[in-house]
Amino acid sequence: MEIIFATNNDHKLHEVSEYLKNKYKILSMKEIGCFDDIPETANTLEGNALIKARYIYERFGKDCFADDTGLEVEALNNAPGVYSARYAGADKDAGANMRKLLAELSDESNRKARFRTVIALIKEGTEYLFEGEVRGIISREPKGINGFGYDPIFVPENYDKSFAELDLSVKNTISHRANAVKKLVDFLQNTIN
Ligand code: IMP
Repeated sequence: MEIIFATNNDHKLHEVSEYLKNKYKILSMKEIGCFDDIPETANTLEGNALIKARYIYERFGKDCFADDTGLEVEALNNAPGVYSARYAGADKDAGANMRKLLAELSDESNRKARFRTVIALIKEGTEYLFEGEVRGIISREPKGINGFGYDPIFVPENYDKSFAELDLSVKNTISHRANAVKKLVDFLQNTIN
């Protein structure tokens, strides 16, 4: 069975395909000939994930899913949240985003944060949402070189290393995205006719 993942991020595609191989063939946007930059104009993760999934479903009429992720910092009323990629500006500079976040939290002792991923699935016309999270704290300075985005300043609960210091295989078993993908995969595996 085929399903479209509304992404062109090869890393995400590979991760999900691994879980679903033999059951579903996952197609990327490129593979269905869609090169559009879908505008993410909602102010929630759920909204943006749905925008992307609906965009594909309406044009291609095939089962599909899309994801959206944000870093929610408790002391900042859950900012940067849905604006995580563009927190320090439109050029989506990960270094600038981290510097801005560390500056905002410089006098703050509550460092609690979580990454949250929402996946929107449209299957036979019905919409479903799946959510995954990982809790942790924002460190005082960046450490490590693995991963991307805010990984150097995010230390997951029960660990004393940042996501960027941990092995990618460790991150991929406990991450927000992994937890959301597991829920999607369980659902898809249990609903195959
Ligand atoms: P996206 O929705 O997956 O594109 O994620 C939006 C933004 O959240 C990214 O540009 C990153 O800044 C941040 N982000 C998402 N996932 C991660 C992660 O696993 N580690 C660090 N930052 C992330």
